[in-house]
Amino acid sequence: MRKTMIAVATLLASVSAAAAGAETTAQMIQPLLPEITAWRRDLHQHPELSNREFRTSKIVAAELKKLGLDVRTGIAHTGVVGILKGGKPGPKLAIRADMDALPVTEEVDLPFASKVKGEYLGKQVGVMHACGHDAHTAMTLGIAEAMSKIRKDLPGEVMFIFQPAEEGAPAGEEGGAPLMVKDGVFRNFTPDAVFGMHVVSALPVGTAAVRAGGMMASSDTFRITVHGRQSHGATPWKGIDPIVTAAEIVTSAQTIVSRQLDINKDPAVVTFGIFNGGQRFNIVPDKVELQGTIRAFDPQMRKQALASLKNMAEHVAAANGATVDTEIPMPGSNPVNTNAPALTARVRASLEKALGKDHVSEAQRWTASEDFPWLALSVPAPSVYFFVGATKAGEDPATAPTNHSPRFFLDEGALPVGAEAMLQASLDYLGYVAP
Ligand SMILES: [Zn+2]
Ligand SMILES: [Zn+2]
Repeated sequence: MRKTMIAVATLLASVSAAAAGAETTAQMIQPLLPEITAWRRDLHQHPELSNREFRTSKIVAAELKKLGLDVRTGIAHTGVVGILKGGKPGPKLAIRADMDALPVTEEVDLPFASKVKGEYLGKQVGVMHACGHDAHTAMTLGIAEAMSKIRKDLPGEVMFIFQPAEEGAPAGEEGGAPLMVKDGVFRNFTPDAVFGMHVVSALPVGTAAVRAGGMMASSDTFRITVHGRQSHGATPWKGIDPIVTAAEIVTSAQTIVSRQLDINKDPAVVTFGIFNGGQRFNIVPDKVELQGTIRAFDPQMRKQALASLKNMAEHVAAANGATVDTEIPMPGSNPVNTNAPALTARVRASLEKALGKDHVSEAQRWTASEDFPWLALSVPAPSVYFFVGATKAGEDPATAPTNHSPRFFLDEGALPVGAEAMLQASLDYLGYVAP
């Protein structure tokens, strides 16, 4: 019964497409917009933390099955993929959307604002789609639906990847793109290219941006444990002070980028985000724990920064009579998100076709990171990733609340923009010609 309905629907869709002639991607997405918006609002109201995207993945799998795609679930815990086989021979394309939300308490006044609570690092926290992955999931479902309507005339095959845990798996768990690779996401489907996109507050709604080469930085998390010797705070000479030693390590590490790396080449960042030690004002503690992140675009600079931090930590500690345990880097590093130059030129032309030349710009490098590159690197295949503006008209994108802020606000005008841009890039890549 369902099969008959799908067949009838497909027939009707292809008849209407033929009647309309060469439909633009805008015309293909427009009728789906109420549905895409409804998905986005539903997901926004029911956000789920990394590796806990149970409800989201159920919805995604059900929608993809409705479209007649070949669906696999349970990849990397809650990951879902759907394969759409076109009616004509052609290349294989993978399109990736991420599904997870963040431990952030929503402060945006929306009728569908999240009131969800979850557990993060042992604490009860608010949960919010503060990075816009709700939009990515909804837009990508819409793209799957638009493509399923033209599957008869579609060259090649498309794998729609709905990925969990882009923001990082909970402590002690694996997750995200690397686990999808490990779980064999591409075991029976070798893509010729991988596409991804991200909504960003840094661009106004209605626009997209892309660049060839390094687009987002590599990220390496590190931990340095400084071991001293406990003593009374009144007689510090009887111990070894790990607080002073750790403070010196943090200060010395500021010279890695400013004095050691050739910043003519590329930017780099060394940031400490955790400095933990001590229980009481008049006790010198035994140890201090430091954690932070290194961002880079050049592989050599990345290597040098990691080695230099280890060297500094060890020698500053030794100079103070202390010792260190270092984990530089910790597990969970991300590679540079690199756009393949030739393919990027093609995608940029597609974005301009869909959105208009004035609405597509050269993206600035961004020192944020992504686990997206693991997918293409595992093949290896070229990949392209682009940004979609999310900040409402009249607001300055430079000062709008950024992704991850409790006040991150996605203008829903970004939904058709991202969906049309990705659809256009995909159809052009596959070599689709409207009948
Ligand atoms: Zn994020
Ligand atoms: Zn994100």
